Amino acid sequence: MKNLINFFKSFLLLELLKGMSVTGRYFFARHITVEYPEEKTPQSFRFRGLHAQRRYPNGEERCIGCKLCEAVCPALAIKIEVAEREDGTRRTTRYDIDLVKCIFCGFCEESCPVDAIVETRVFEYHGESRGDLYYTKPMLLAMGEKYEEQIAMDRAADAKYR
Ligand code: SF4
Ligand code: SF4
Repeated sequence: MKNLINFFKSFLLLELLKGMSVTGRYFFARHITVEYPEEKTPQSFRFRGLHAQRRYPNGEERCIGCKLCEAVCPALAIKIEVAEREDGTRRTTRYDIDLVKCIFCGFCEESCPVDAIVETRVFEYHGESRGDLYYTKPMLLAMGEKYEEQIAMDRAADAKYR
């Protein structure tokens, strides 16, 4: 009897019709998937993406080489060397972040007293080798220059919660 029922089921293509009805139902339903990369989901102003080093509006580097970010980094991803300049100010001679080690916890930007190291909204990047994800000071400053407008807006939006 069971075999007979199965025979009629396959003969009338019932399983196929059942599947088509599910397809039809979702074809007209509201889409909940995002067609990345053409479509993007909204981002928080606290999004923790690629790092950047910022400058003041007069072009001076914000970072004073206090090494707080290096000390707080749980992944030991930051490497800093500092020297005193002729005018007596401290500045980094080396500021590297190994993004392979980084876990994007945001502790570095939280610890920074002068808002120098920040995490941008940039998440679409890759490296073909480990070295490509080793960000040096010039690379971080270049990121800061490129995205300063967005970074400043995000910091302003976050200021009232800090
Ligand atoms: S985000 Fe976290 S893990 Fe990455 S460099 Fe900053 S402190 Fe280190
Ligand atoms: S980025 Fe900020 S916390 Fe890190 S060394 Fe520079 S001033 Fe200090």
